[in-house]
Amino acid sequence: MNMMTTGAHAPRDRIVVNGRQYHRPQRTTVVICFDGCDPTYIETAAQAGVTPALDAMRSRGHFALADAVMPTFTNPNNVSIVCGAPPAVHGVAGNFYLDLTTGETVMMLDAAMMRAPTILAGLAEIGSKVAVVTAKDKLRKALAFGLDGIAFSAECAQGTTDEEHGIADAAGFVGLDKPDQYSAELSLFVLDAGIRLIEAGRADVLYLSLSDYVQHKHAPDAPEALAFMAAVDARVARLIELGAVVGITADHGMTDMSRPDGVPHVTYLGDVLDAAFGKGTTRVICPITDPFVRHHGALGGFVRVHVLDGSVSHRAVQDLLAGQPGVALVLRGAEAAARFEMPEDREADFIAVGDAGVALGACATDHDISQLAGERLRSHGGLSEQRVPFLLSHPVAKSDENRRLRNFDIFDFALNRVG
Ligand SMILES: [Zn+2]
Repeated sequence: MNMMTTGAHAPRDRIVVNGRQYHRPQRTTVVICFDGCDPTYIETAAQAGVTPALDAMRSRGHFALADAVMPTFTNPNNVSIVCGAPPAVHGVAGNFYLDLTTGETVMMLDAAMMRAPTILAGLAEIGSKVAVVTAKDKLRKALAFGLDGIAFSAECAQGTTDEEHGIADAAGFVGLDKPDQYSAELSLFVLDAGIRLIEAGRADVLYLSLSDYVQHKHAPDAPEALAFMAAVDARVARLIELGAVVGITADHGMTDMSRPDGVPHVTYLGDVLDAAFGKGTTRVICPITDPFVRHHGALGGFVRVHVLDGSVSHRAVQDLLAGQPGVALVLRGAEAAARFEMPEDREADFIAVGDAGVALGACATDHDISQLAGERLRSHGGLSEQRVPFLLSHPVAKSDENRRLRNFDIFDFALNRVG
């Protein structure tokens, strides 16, 4: 089907990205990645009566639960959402990797890992005014991959330039002081920036990616969480008032990973492997690791395990890992890649997933849990955090009910299915 050949005078009204077709929207369209928004935050806030706009989306628009991609970390899911495809297609399956060619651990801080184009870049190419605003700068380059448009972060909103970010002095444009990187305001800045961009006529397709600072720190019924939900809700109300179609999903949920006495419930697989096979023979990588470790100590429910010493039996490693308390699932890399749609060539020898409420770590000395400052460990990464909300401000045309709904279907719904 070769429908894409249109003359120079006929602007294209649709694109095909990673095998799926998307319409250029006639109305302002906003997709929000509500970082760490487990469905219980939505439910609890609704029961408390503090989120009228989200409630209205549920009753008058569309509400469902969707599955995030594995591992349930921020970068793989954000990139999946803007690509409309799982990590097997775009290549980003963690925040942090062991580069198998160099033996070095690397952060995914730019677009170098990306193997697929984004829906955002495609829409900009056919004339949409696209803007990406993220809470943390670490995601900006990946989300802006190939994009001719606006892209900046709340974290680094000062000193943005036209050349690099598509907008000069974003902080001045938004008219707010730069928020602290560890604060609820970082996410609210993102939403306020989106509102300002629409009000100023600078954007008509927006991707707004929040931070999970509040969810790492506070359970859904905590006053701080309810206040944050109310503050987000007020901004969603404004976006809808401006005439936007709003789609909201999350990159992952959030689980309390502490024992009843408040001590983090962690199984340190690196220590277990070192004791059995010797230091340096294996390497446990925690793909949650990022420059913002303060609230999770680089601990989550999913790790990768590399066997570095050829004399170590893979079978023995697998059996040892699978027998540890708190370990729900151990798979060989190829098997994990197939089951969870991850890029096989970037997989480790094994992956391990924790039980609900259990974090998996490397060695105890690698994780500074004192940074939690006595607060309960709340984190994500495994299968327990895969269920996320999937909300639209408008009703949607009937979809294939039998199809498994994914968070990365949100652009398809917002662009193609809203009536
Ligand atoms: Zn996240």
